[in-house]
Amino acid sequence: MLKRYRAGTAIIELVQGDITEQDTDAIVNAANRTLLGGGGVDGAIHRAGGPAILEECRKLGGCETGDAKITTGGALKARHVIHAVGPVYSGRPRDAELLASAYRRSLEVAVENGLKTVAFPSISTGAYGYPVREAAPVALSAVRDFLLAGAPVSLVRFVLFDPATFRAYEEAAGRIFGPPEEP
Ligand code: ADP
Repeated sequence: MLKRYRAGTAIIELVQGDITEQDTDAIVNAANRTLLGGGGVDGAIHRAGGPAILEECRKLGGCETGDAKITTGGALKARHVIHAVGPVYSGRPRDAELLASAYRRSLEVAVENGLKTVAFPSISTGAYGYPVREAAPVALSAVRDFLLAGAPVSLVRFVLFDPATFRAYEEAAGRIFGPPEEP
């Protein structure tokens, strides 16, 4: 399952799958403010990447909500992990600002490190309780706006773990980008 859209010269892909298996320059972790590991995608990334990632995380001194920090990818195919902290859902307008910021800061960190291809999970829509139908358009618009501003990133892939999450992103992408490109 793959859907592809264009934002300027960059490609945005939606796939259903496991982010720990991606071969992009970086994968993004939906981390928490401690950066010391957790459940969900965070647990999966640390399990697959091995202890080198956590060792580096310990030196970073945590991360504010809406911000992102980079480490090695350890044993992962991706050479880097960008640890982004999304908001815990509260139902207030600030949620969307912080969620967009987590995506934007992740891409800024990628650019600062010369990385061209980045894979994201659906930040905040698991344990942090952000309804995926609200989160998907925020995530896609934040990434589109960043890419349309001319950032030197060629591919952003959203790796969506379950069919319902994939469908929510697909529906939002249809509204934002129009129909996907032909395979
Ligand atoms: P948060 O605390 O930011 O809500 P979670 O990890 O609880 O983060 O959930 C975020 C999303 O990541 C959810 O849609 C969850 O199903 C998904 N997820 C869990 N494991 C993986 C994985 N290995 N690859 C991609 N997405 C995953």
